[in-house]
Amino acid sequence: MISMNQKDRVIAEIIDFGKTSDYSEIVIDLTNRIYNEGFTLATNYDFSTPSLINWDKKVISIFMKKKPLFIIADMFHEYGHLLLGYKGNTLDTIEIELSAWNLAFKEMSKYDFLQEYINDLMKYQEECIENYRRNLKKPST
Ligand SMILES: [Zn+2]
Repeated sequence: MISMNQKDRVIAEIIDFGKTSDYSEIVIDLTNRIYNEGFTLATNYDFSTPSLINWDKKVISIFMKKKPLFIIADMFHEYGHLLLGYKGNTLDTIEIELSAWNLAFKEMSKYDFLQEYINDLMKYQEECIENYRRNLKKPST
């Protein structure tokens, strides 16, 4: 009997349910790097919750109901947050978002085959930042 640990299960889930098999090398690399930092990876299928990093629980959660390329982009982005480290209230949140994306793109540049998708990834980044700005403007209830 093959027994899979939590890390192997989440890798299999992101590849199977996320249809990211074209990027399986990246899924495995990033997952290993996240676990090496003492964090775990989880998946989320709830539209009200975006991909995020939970610093208290040391969990990166990836929202799965999106295009495979953008699941990968979210993994890079959340890994970018992890590399950036916890910033608390020391920086404007948009500034943190941009810094995490910069680190994400730096990491993406290490994968040659991703370069053909770079325009889509840049557009996705812009949409994410635009959504972020819109949400910041929402009056709190
Ligand atoms: Zn972010």
